[in-house]
Amino acid sequence: MTSSFPASTVLGYPRIGPDRELKRALESYWEGRSGRADLEETARRLREDTWRRLAALGLEGLPSNTFSYYDQVLDTAVLLGAVPGRYRHDDDLATYFAMARGAEGIAPLRMTKWFDTNYHYIVPEIGPDTVFSLDAAKPLAEVREARALGLETRPVLIGPVTFLLLSQAAPGNADGPDSPDGPHSPDGFTPLDRLDDVVEVYARLLGELAAEGVGWVQLDEPALVADRTPAELAAVEAAYGRLGRLEHRPALLVASYFGDLGDALPVLAGTPVEAVGLDLVRGTAQGVDALAGKTVVAGVVSGRDVWRADLDRALATLHAARERAGRVAVSTSCSLLHVPYDAERETGLDPALRERLAFAEQKVAEVVELATLLTAAPDSHLPGRPLPGRSLPGRPLPGPAAAPERPRTSRACTAEGRAPYAVRAVAQAEHLKLPLLPVTTIGSFPQTGELRRARAALAAGEIGEAAYESMVRAEIEQVIALQERLGLDVLVHGEPERNDMVQYFAEHLDGFAVTRHGWVQSYGSRCTRPPLLHGDVRRPEPITVRWARYAQSLTSKPVKGMLTGPVTIVAWSFVRDDLPLREVVFQVADAVREEVGDLEEAGVRVIQVDEPALRELVPLRRAEQAAYLEWAVAAYRWATSGVSEHTQIHTHLCYSDADEILAAIDALDADVTSIESARSRGRLLGAVGAFPRGLGPGVYDIHSPRVPGAGEVERLLTEALRTVPAERLWVNPDCGLKTRSYEQVEAALAHVVEAAARLRERHA
Ligand code: GLN
Ligand code: ZN
Repeated sequence: MTSSFPASTVLGYPRIGPDRELKRALESYWEGRSGRADLEETARRLREDTWRRLAALGLEGLPSNTFSYYDQVLDTAVLLGAVPGRYRHDDDLATYFAMARGAEGIAPLRMTKWFDTNYHYIVPEIGPDTVFSLDAAKPLAEVREARALGLETRPVLIGPVTFLLLSQAAPGNADGPDSPDGPHSPDGFTPLDRLDDVVEVYARLLGELAAEGVGWVQLDEPALVADRTPAELAAVEAAYGRLGRLEHRPALLVASYFGDLGDALPVLAGTPVEAVGLDLVRGTAQGVDALAGKTVVAGVVSGRDVWRADLDRALATLHAARERAGRVAVSTSCSLLHVPYDAERETGLDPALRERLAFAEQKVAEVVELATLLTAAPDSHLPGRPLPGRSLPGRPLPGPAAAPERPRTSRACTAEGRAPYAVRAVAQAEHLKLPLLPVTTIGSFPQTGELRRARAALAAGEIGEAAYESMVRAEIEQVIALQERLGLDVLVHGEPERNDMVQYFAEHLDGFAVTRHGWVQSYGSRCTRPPLLHGDVRRPEPITVRWARYAQSLTSKPVKGMLTGPVTIVAWSFVRDDLPLREVVFQVADAVREEVGDLEEAGVRVIQVDEPALRELVPLRRAEQAAYLEWAVAAYRWATSGVSEHTQIHTHLCYSDADEILAAIDALDADVTSIESARSRGRLLGAVGAFPRGLGPGVYDIHSPRVPGAGEVERLLTEALRTVPAERLWVNPDCGLKTRSYEQVEAALAHVVEAAARLRERHA
């Protein structure tokens, strides 16, 4: 009854549009500049273009339901009827966007990073009383829409176990999203307790899809590549046992990605699902024999990088899997959501680099090519032997293999570097002469439209370098004057010269290239253009020094030099895969260290090196986490330890998940750590209050347009003073001020300064 799985497929595709059409349509809809019909038409066209393009490239298995107005986890919550009462509205789109972005007086659902990617998903809220009900409108509509174009598709959904593992216990049943023990509520409830109810909704959905004539459904279970408890594995067995035994259902592909299934593989193998998707780029084919009798959907083309696949190697992997498991289909390692659309458009890149690139389009072509080769080759083909009559384009390797090895290890282990904090603290107090509870900011000030337009005009050659630079200088003058007027203690230059905290450095370092159209969805309508780290990283000349020097020349107060840390620069780039990540991070750390040294030499007394992505790269498997954190911290310390004891090093982290890596943050050994705390204050302070160095828990939530009053800031500081001694407490916002308006920033900072002054008096 079941048709066999198509020979080639992808697990998902970008949806924002090659020219960010969805971003524009969404933002225009949100601002009331266009109506629902316009938004729906843009969405429909994007889906049509994607399906037609995939079919034209020769892909056999087309996915559907990979489109989303905001996020696929949020879509799944809607599908299951898991919509918290406070968001419900007559207009379904209003309900949807209220959960994603908040509404009048209602905060949005929490957002957090999707595994170890820079994509953010919306965290559903599930409680003991959540009433589930099927709303299959979206997947059904997409199946019908594709069918109207003459195309059959495979609906893609988040699987029940991953959905519940990513959800949080609804507030009211727990002490809120920031409950100290994660998704558990005091009475021990976890969303996974609702598995049976949720699986029943999936069962009904599968029934409806079967009635619609859908042949295959894909259920994504990436949560299974992390360490799972026996109870969680039992949940997998129960869920897929139940769904697999349904009488009327499509065939099931359970897709895993971002790593190996490990213990979950034999569990899935024991359930009646027809196909299992494996990430054979990050993971291995270990244990694949257990899948004999099922189809292995072999993810051999990476969905996480932008490099052309080594087709020889991929083919060998496919052959090995086929020999051991039987039926094999060719696929991407994960959804292509994490890569840009089309490398062919990057005509501004060095052709030798462009040659090596594969974005989504090129990756689909690779999948198709591999499927053709796999079908053509007899089963007896020995992996590794060149294929008859066909020379495969191997990936040209960049030069670095030949470059002399530099002694990374010794340096990583001897990052003892700086004098003990007690010594530094005295030297810095003398050097900086700061008041108690010093007030500072995280770096950026509002980026005005005027500045952005000037940068675009510079890139387009419409204005000259000199005109642009004088604009930047004028902006720095204003930012310094503003901070002096408001009475801040450690000033910043405002970062007006930077488009982005990573891309700016990428543009000034050798070994990086930047794309023109390489947008990747970060969350909702937001996209980033990750730079391409393709060669050896070198700093040809100082990057930020002249701006820092200029800013310092305008004031007698200390101005912080502002840099992005090595882990974050690498995390938010597409990185060459011919070197261990650690080596690449240390190359970047070398460059940052040189910049830190030059800033110090230029008279900059405080240097901040941001590392907001430290948490993001933590491996999904616990066994690998300590090693990562060790080298990540060593790279940071290498970058920051070249300065004398009286130069003060700051670091900044955000995204409110800092509590998972506290020991590592402590080990960064920065003199001052500023940290986002708007969403998890109590918990965070309890933990980081013990840091023996300077600490600035954010007192102004910059993610909201709301301006906090001085009384509110004072309360937050008073609370912080219960755990952090006054001598070590810093006063600062949660994060950079780039996305706020000057009006909001001025008012908020005035209140922050006022609150600090009141407390200072009390402590004097
Ligand atoms: N220095 C950066 C800024 O202020 C930090 C941004 C961040 O942490 N994401 O914009
Ligand atoms: Zn931040």
